[in-house]
Amino acid sequence: MQEKVITRMPPSPTGLFHIGSVRTALYNYLYAKQNGGKFILRIEDTDRERSKKEFEDNITESFKWLKMPYGEFYRQSERTEIYKKYLKNLLDQKIIYVSKEEPKEEGERGEVIRFKNPNKKIKWNDLVLGEIEFDTTDLEDFVIAKDLETPLYHFAVVVDDMEMGVTHIIRGQDHISNTPRQILILEALGGERPQYAHIPLILGADKSKLSKRHGAVSALEYREQGYLPEALLNFVALIGWNPGNDREIFTLDELVKEFSLKKVQKSGGVFNIEKLDWINKEHIKLLPKEEIEKNILAWLKPACAGFRENTQNEKIFPKLIPIIEERISKWGDIKDMIERGELRFFFEAPNYDKLKLIFKNTPAEKIKHNLELARKALENLDENNFETEEIKNTLMLIADNLGSRGELLHPVRYALSGADKSPDPFIIASILGKNETLSRLQKAI
Ligand code: GLU
Repeated sequence: MQEKVITRMPPSPTGLFHIGSVRTALYNYLYAKQNGGKFILRIEDTDRERSKKEFEDNITESFKWLKMPYGEFYRQSERTEIYKKYLKNLLDQKIIYVSKEEPKEEGERGEVIRFKNPNKKIKWNDLVLGEIEFDTTDLEDFVIAKDLETPLYHFAVVVDDMEMGVTHIIRGQDHISNTPRQILILEALGGERPQYAHIPLILGADKSKLSKRHGAVSALEYREQGYLPEALLNFVALIGWNPGNDREIFTLDELVKEFSLKKVQKSGGVFNIEKLDWINKEHIKLLPKEEIEKNILAWLKPACAGFRENTQNEKIFPKLIPIIEERISKWGDIKDMIERGELRFFFEAPNYDKLKLIFKNTPAEKIKHNLELARKALENLDENNFETEEIKNTLMLIADNLGSRGELLHPVRYALSGADKSPDPFIIASILGKNETLSRLQKAI
């Protein structure tokens, strides 16, 4: 019978849960899930000075947002008695010993607990990197605890992995050098050796290790920027792994099916924010229509708070949804569009330089005449049927008669938007409504 797969994510609550941890957690989650196993979240807060409750909250909040459930939850600070039991046992067997130390600084303790290094070669077959061999002699008798109540990282990790029955340790390649020490401790405890998979680091575009200066690194910052959690997971999954074909869009359930440790690459994967934006846009398209509308409105309304209060605003918001959906990759782009003033003219009549109304070398008189034609034609449309198609048919008829569409459509569009770039004048007019459209054309005339 095959043993049950158990994986774990053991973050230290000494900083925000970052994008690299999201990927490590995801690979552990996927591997457990696809094997019908269990995924554990373990808070490694043995470093009491650096561990902070706010960071633990940030970790659990990140898991909640990412919708990545864990089967069990532990805190190392609550397991002191367990470590103590194992430490005592090893002391009795003289596998570890209390070592008198020369205090380097005033107030420093005079004793630590050291592991008696058997000075041997440690070998393991890494599921990502293949055969790895280390001579542990250089490690000397390393420190594993300050005292019986204060185990250090290596010891606590090994006891926990053993007690929790962890079968697969999937973690970043920055931990490779920890593995030989941990295997030595595990052998001393008589535990069964798990499989190791050391996954490649995430690199910035400049191929250096990903850090703050490459942009947002904490998971929840991506929530604030309006990314979808399923897109972020899809994106990090592909940093260091690919399905062996060119498919790039996966839901979490699809990743569970397709992910394979065998296809995780050995060398670092590059973080590319444009790719995240593209993946996010694809995931927006997978959402139900109502969900897209709800989100766009939820980001749009507060962003427009600075605009002039207008009884029409509530009517304009829903009409902007298709325009916005077409232009954004993530909800946060809505805020940026508003800040850049791209949608302002929907809420407030624009001010502009009147020369901008002129199309190429068309004389001003002719532009004015064309605007009058447009105004008159639109005046005849029914206010309750002032829709894009009607407006387009009406204006195109005039434009085609003039022989140059631009001589009509440019000044109309500019009169309505006051912007060099905007959606076409038919859409703008239909959103503004008949009264506002006629008034802006009149102003231009
Ligand atoms: N607490 C360690 C860290 O956050 C865990 C490393 C591991 O054993 O996976 O880096």
